[in-house]
Amino acid sequence: MSIKVQKNILLSKYTTFKIGGPAKFFCVVENIDEIRETFKFAEKNKLKIFILGEGSNILISDKGFDGFVLKIQDTKYKIQTNNKIFVGSGLSLAKLVSESVKNNLTGLQWAAGMPGAIGGAIVNNAGASGMSMMNIVEEVEILEIITQPPLSGGISFSPDKGRLGGIRRLTNKQCKFSYRNSIFKEEKKYIILNAVLKLKKGNEEKSRKMISEILKSRKEKQPFEYPSAGSIFKNPVLDDNHLRRLIKENSELENISKNNTIPAGWFIENLGLKGKKIGGAMISEKHGNFIVNMGNAKAENVIILISLIKQKVRDNFSIQLKEEIEYVGF
Ligand SMILES: Cc1cc2nc3c(=O)[nH]c(=O)nc-3n(C[C@H](O)[C@H](O)[C@H](O)COP(=O)(O)OP(=O)(O)OC[C@H]3O[C@@H](n4cnc5c(N)ncnc54)[C@H](O)[C@@H]3O)c2cc1C
Repeated sequence: MSIKVQKNILLSKYTTFKIGGPAKFFCVVENIDEIRETFKFAEKNKLKIFILGEGSNILISDKGFDGFVLKIQDTKYKIQTNNKIFVGSGLSLAKLVSESVKNNLTGLQWAAGMPGAIGGAIVNNAGASGMSMMNIVEEVEILEIITQPPLSGGISFSPDKGRLGGIRRLTNKQCKFSYRNSIFKEEKKYIILNAVLKLKKGNEEKSRKMISEILKSRKEKQPFEYPSAGSIFKNPVLDDNHLRRLIKENSELENISKNNTIPAGWFIENLGLKGKKIGGAMISEKHGNFIVNMGNAKAENVIILISLIKQKVRDNFSIQLKEEIEYVGF
């Protein structure tokens, strides 16, 4: 066996939140052969599997994950003709952005300063400034887990219910991208291996200027000084009547709302919840939609803050906030 399976590995160090208990088994995989080997190991030992990228959009429970965590670290990439890039799903967004700029390609500047790897970014249809992965993904190569019935709860594989199928390619349309969502997030039965991204010819100097403006704005708005998982909630989309009613009571929303969407952070700030602390977790004073780890925060502290926010927003605005982050091991 060429893979190195480790036991009882603390997951907090593999997440940007720096929160999470141990994985019963843990393995870093770099290619499809290693993934297949880990599945054999999981089948033999009857372990459920969780696929981990850079852990920047998840909250792992304090108990950890009672199964097998596969950290995908396939970081290969190749600039192709026609402004396309072939990327392994473990390549970081940071590296992808810098390589695309160096090669005079444009279309990815919005991802500057965003943590995470390609796989997780495709799963979430990660985005900013009105752009997201759906604008650049041409094709995604996957390994499909054949399940009967489909699995849920952030777990990609359970040996009693599934087996690993063959490689398939999905077109952009087949990925069913929508706001911070995709077929991968909905069905939880695909392992993303590689992707082909389509960019445009650009100008290195112009791209660099844009990136430095984006980084400056991120630094001003987001609490990079503390560990977090980025935005906790998706921005809610309201129907016309609901929006009109809210604007009547809060005139500033006239300028803040875009396409019937209001930033989740606005509700949290409006309710005076910024700075609210439970244990080591705090609703950021800088950005209402971020919960930060001030030191030794427990997943339980974060969960309490999330429930508090959801309850107050529901009671005061009749809006049910939905999580952008995913829960693992709860
Ligand atoms: C400070 C900060 C700022 C952020 N800003 C933004 C932002 O502006 N916009 C935005 O959209 N997001 C933002 N995020 C969230 C996060 O950066 C993105 O969602 C990122 O793309 C997640 O990638 P990841 O590798 O960390 O995924 P992970 O968190 O490791 O995983 C996320 C999900 O993807 C699955 N997954 C990961 N890799 C694979 C794979 N190869 N195959 C199948 N499933 C896989 C996991 O099982 C999990 O379900 C921010 C986060 C932080 C901490």
